[in-house]
Amino acid sequence: MTKRFLDQIRETLTQIDADGLMKRERLITSPQGGRITVSQNGKTRENVVNLCANNYLGLADNADLIKAAKDSYDAQGYGMASVRFICGTKDIHRQLEQRLAGFLGKDDSILFAACFDANGAVFEPLLGPEDAVISDSLNHASIIDGIRLCKARRFRYANSNMGELEDRLKEAREGGARHIMIATDGVFSMDGYLAKLPEITALAEKYEALVLIDDCHATGFMGPQGRGMPAHFGVDVDILTGTLGKALGGAIGGYIAGPQPVIDLLRQRARPYLFSNSLPPAVVMAGLKALDLVEAGDDLRQQLFENTAYWRAGLTDLGFDLLQGEHPIVPVMLGDARLSQDMAAALFDLGVYVAGFFFPVVPKGRARIRTQMNAALTRADLDFALDAFAEAGRKTGVLS
Ligand SMILES: *Cc1c(COP(=O)(O)O)cnc(C)c1O
Repeated sequence: MTKRFLDQIRETLTQIDADGLMKRERLITSPQGGRITVSQNGKTRENVVNLCANNYLGLADNADLIKAAKDSYDAQGYGMASVRFICGTKDIHRQLEQRLAGFLGKDDSILFAACFDANGAVFEPLLGPEDAVISDSLNHASIIDGIRLCKARRFRYANSNMGELEDRLKEAREGGARHIMIATDGVFSMDGYLAKLPEITALAEKYEALVLIDDCHATGFMGPQGRGMPAHFGVDVDILTGTLGKALGGAIGGYIAGPQPVIDLLRQRARPYLFSNSLPPAVVMAGLKALDLVEAGDDLRQQLFENTAYWRAGLTDLGFDLLQGEHPIVPVMLGDARLSQDMAAALFDLGVYVAGFFFPVVPKGRARIRTQMNAALTRADLDFALDAFAEAGRKTGVLS
């Protein structure tokens, strides 16, 4: 490797740091959960309240999931050492695909290593140069990348702006598009805002478009029985993508669910499916167990939404400025990027782990701390965290 090349890479790193954009990873030494142990610069902090995991149902260290994974090693082995279509499909892969499809009200589903791969896989085999895809401007990076990989004409509308969406639909129709697909996150993860599915599906019907939703921040806990944003609004969408890496245990794995011919074609043509390894049995068995727990009742969801209501009310009473909503993503608006970092650091010193988000992840001047509720947090954890927010808020001047 030439010195010139490495020098240029180092220069980029220096610039990232100088811009205040360097991401530094804290080391967690306990299982993921409501309280965790975090080590930083050789110092260990125990019992830190964790408010930044996508662990909505608290299943990341659930005893039943761990047992299902452990048992799988004796019965099912460790790895598959194959892609699905050569010799990597077990009966349990098909079971999980059919369970997910049933849960989501679709004909079938297809598993991927991650939802990033599912979104990377879904557009290219289904849409050609004769087609159009219309994408919300705040869609997840993996949707953006997936759309880049397909040859359809691309359109974009400002986040949840239904007037713009209709304009793009008209443009695409007038441009002679054969098929039009609208692609959106079900929940926008920086704000916790819900996609306007009733309006989107009505427009789709009017212009004969398909709707694809990435429901990563909804499946398992939003809507009746946790069936996601379509169920929440009582509407139907054509194709869903999602993850096992958030509410459904938090390990890894993604999927696409939809009509049978769509899933059948993806099994033939989706490149991340054809050319990447099959999910390990432990992940599949724990995924099936996660669906058992999600389908068994509403206790975890009830805990999650009780926590969310308590947390929102507590922060509001303290005087913080929140983005309004009903999702367990609760953004605390601070405005200034530096302030969001100072606040996150002050909270960490007080035993609360949160992440500050600032430009370019969110618009300039809209820096925030994004807190996320989960079912593993107790009332005592939340009271502890509220006290810490009060103290950190005063210390940083956010609260008077
Ligand atoms: C987390 C997330 C993904 C990526 O899911 P992985 O399974 O972790 O790859 C994709 N889309 C959205 C909207 C997400 O929030």
